[in-house]
Parts: sequence; structure tokens; C-alpha cells
Amino acid sequence: MRFAAVLLIVACATTALAQESGYKYFAETEHLRFAWDDTVASGEGIEVMKRDGEKYYAAIKKMLVEVDNKKITVLLEGPAERPDGSWGYPRVDSFGRVHLYRFGPTWHDYQGAFAHEMVHAMRFWRMPHYDWFFEEGLAEFISLRIDESLRGFPWYGYPVDLVAGQWIVRNEAILLKVVKEEHKRVNLPCKAQTYSLRSAFFDYLGRQYGDHAILDMARQDRAGLYEDYQKYLGNLVQPLAIEWRAAVMDSYAKIPNADSLATVYRTQTPIQYMPVCDLNGDVLR
Ligand SMILES: [Zn+2]
Repeated sequence: MRFAAVLLIVACATTALAQESGYKYFAETEHLRFAWDDTVASGEGIEVMKRDGEKYYAAIKKMLVEVDNKKITVLLEGPAERPDGSWGYPRVDSFGRVHLYRFGPTWHDYQGAFAHEMVHAMRFWRMPHYDWFFEEGLAEFISLRIDESLRGFPWYGYPVDLVAGQWIVRNEAILLKVVKEEHKRVNLPCKAQTYSLRSAFFDYLGRQYGDHAILDMARQDRAGLYEDYQKYLGNLVQPLAIEWRAAVMDSYAKIPNADSLATVYRTQTPIQYMPVCDLNGDVLR
């Protein structure tokens, strides 16, 4: 009897390791473990996510070198808008598990934040020491390099310089100093601006100074220190931000019909439903 009980406990423990409790469906690859209830994810969707997940894992590992060796759990949580009207946002929880939400009717709508959240999960052990400006910038920078689709938030199919440029030329670009120093206060309330501007900044730094400079910064024990910008990029954040704004405006000016494309971006993509903040990160509407 006791032997049977011990066997049962061992069996339960093994199942718990292999599967997340509370979910109906499971799938596993070499480095990832998926769980979901949402049948939209089943079939072709999960096959593509398994393949993309392994592709992202390999690419992120190659860029970061030093990554968490644990298998990554990815929970596909169903529609982002919950029955009670609240919204779920892609994130990595305190156990290092990735939660993805579907921002539309098909399995494609899970994929917008997949690469981004995997970067966080693969640096999970660093989270207590995170400089959030740098970590968010890094996750966005890497996902721009490994998933060029620009499909999901905050691009919705538009080029980085068009999206960042339209905030700048309309004088709606929340200051990077505010985004960096007041991450907790402004990051989510001003998400349309914070995510696109920070992405564009790190994208520019990589293109201008070499992706290796950003990746070298990422390998420091406390990644994202002010002095590292000087050390790896040759300047402080503020002058780099001025230089970046000028470069984005230059590149925006070269996009044919930039202003009318920007109007479509602002009025016909999900950006239209998101609040806009002033330059200091206070919500305007
Ligand atoms: Zn993030």
C-alpha cells in the first residue's frame, strides 16, 4: 500500500513537471513546453509556434550566449480581452513562464510578442537586477532582428521609422529620459509610445554602432548602467537620444506619403484605442 502511494506521488510529480496544471492541451519541443485551453491554438497554430519557438530560441541563444538553461513554458491564454472586460498582456511571470494572449481571431494573433517574451524568459535569472529600460529595449531589439514581420503591437505592419517618426514629428514623443527613469509609471499607460520609441532607439543604436555593442552591454552583470552607454556606444543616453531623433526624422522624411500612412496607422490600427501621453508621460486621452 505504502509502495503504491509512493509510486502515485512520484507519478504525480512527474506529470506536474511535464504539464502545467489547469490546461487541457500540451506540446513540447527540445527547449519549450506549451500549454493551452484555447482550441484556436490547436493544429496548425501550435505546429508553427513550436517551429518558431525553436527558431527564436536558437537565434536568441546565439545573440546572448549566456541564457537560462531551463525549458521555457509558454502558456497560450486565449483572447486578450477577458469575459469581464479586462485585458491580458503578454508577460513573463514570477516562475519564468511566458503568457501569450490572442489579440485577434486566429492563432497568428498570439505571435506578436512571442520572440520578445522569450528574450525575457531566457534572461529570467537576471530579473531581480533588471534595468527595465535596457531589458525592454533589448527584448525589442532582438525581436526586430529575429522576427522581421512587424506584424503585431506596436507596428501593425508599418516600418519602425514611420511609427517612431510620426510620434516625433507630431511632437508626441515622450522623452526617453522619462521612459528610462520612470519605467513603472509610464511604460504601460503610455505603451503605444514607450514600446515603439524605445524599440526604435535600440534599433538605431544597433544599426549605427553595431549590434555587438548592444549585445556586449547585455552581457554585463548589471546590464543597462548609464556608464555602459558611454563605454560601448561612445556617448551618454541624452546625446544618443538627440542623435537618434534626428536620424529618425531624416528617415521619416524619406518615406513616400509618410504623413498619410501615419494617419492610417493612428486611426485604423489598434493604436487608435490606446491612450496617448504628453512628453512627460501623463496620459492625455
Ligand atoms: Zn517586455
